[in-house]
Amino acid sequence: MDSHVILRHRDIPNIKQIEVYRQQGGYEAFHKAVTEMKPDQVIDVVKASGLRGRGGAGFPAGLKWSFIPKDIFPKYVVVNGDESEPGTFKDREIIEQNPHQFIEGVLLTCYAVQAATGYIYMRGEFKQPAQVLQKAVDEARRAGLIGKNVFGSEYSVEIHLHLGAGAYICGEETALLNSLEGFLGQPRNRPPFPAVQGLYAKPTVINNVETLANVPPIIKNGAEWYRKFGTEKSPGTKVFCLSGRVKRPGNYELPLGVPFKHLIYELGGGIIDDRPLKAILPAGASAPLLPASVIDTPMDYEAVQAAGSMLGSASLIILDDTVDTLWAVEKMVKFFRHESCGKCTPCREGTYWLAREMARIRRGEGKPQDIDLLLDITKNMSGKCFCLLGDFSTSSVTSSIKLFRDDYVKATGGGRG
Ligand code: SF4
Repeated sequence: MDSHVILRHRDIPNIKQIEVYRQQGGYEAFHKAVTEMKPDQVIDVVKASGLRGRGGAGFPAGLKWSFIPKDIFPKYVVVNGDESEPGTFKDREIIEQNPHQFIEGVLLTCYAVQAATGYIYMRGEFKQPAQVLQKAVDEARRAGLIGKNVFGSEYSVEIHLHLGAGAYICGEETALLNSLEGFLGQPRNRPPFPAVQGLYAKPTVINNVETLANVPPIIKNGAEWYRKFGTEKSPGTKVFCLSGRVKRPGNYELPLGVPFKHLIYELGGGIIDDRPLKAILPAGASAPLLPASVIDTPMDYEAVQAAGSMLGSASLIILDDTVDTLWAVEKMVKFFRHESCGKCTPCREGTYWLAREMARIRRGEGKPQDIDLLLDITKNMSGKCFCLLGDFSTSSVTSSIKLFRDDYVKATGGGRG
């Protein structure tokens, strides 16, 4: 696309500096909200825009905000900036290159739900983005946009950055809250949901970085303007992370609903050495693999789900015919084994068994019946784990056996007669 809603630094040099951001109309949406709109009106505009959470689940943001009770204080806004899905690198670019748009989104969300404190949680490895963000927060505070009585109103707000120790599970919202409170980063039981009892057992909104970066342009330009991008059920633009066997990997901002083909072949330059496309992982390591035949499928939440996977964070990892299926699956399974928090048995033991069996098959020590053994392990994990990480660890195994069973048969000696 010619102009960007989120990756605006590509069109406007130095937008990370507060002066440049303000020259471009930055913080006007926050000013408009605080001086002209009631908090509920901000929620209504975001609801009408149809903005859906960009962290993976795709839940409508305005609806989530409307669940926050009006009469309980304090309440909090917590931003999930713990980006750690393999193949995902969009939030980092937003934070490093366009931090003020993101901060303005956090401030608007705080105002909408009447939270006086916002926390931005980032993984510990994000030292450089955290420095950029802290500088931007300090600039905003010096400009009177963060602090007491913003724009001379009665509304006061603070924003704090928090760096975690770097664990994938802390991207799960309740594990994130535990970590933010200083406890072990393990998921909590739900209900109660964070909107009712979140941080310090108070009502809490949790949203992802990209989601909130969408809010300032929505408040500034209106819900109808935003709905001009994307599809009816998946409005707006999305930052797609493209990696794997493509000529031009990177982040691409596109309206939701653009076909895979456009991103992979026109923007991504096609497959390295012009090899045939083998499979697409549409949402990093956690989503089921999709076959090359989905190439004309629109990239929106509904269409990708109908094709048998999920759009999630829209982190496309591209596999071509040179990629050994079992090698790729073993890598993903090992990742989840490493990141399992150990709280529940099906995941703690299941990821270990999956990784062990995949390694054994890859060493040439497997038998044809081990394919069914793998499926049996996934069956004993799916839907039986405490959080979604356990299910995610089975996606690549089950989908690859469905799509590329021959590769498993060959590796287990089934094709050798
Ligand atoms: S599914 Fe895995 S990551 Fe989630 S709680 Fe259980 S052990 Fe922890």
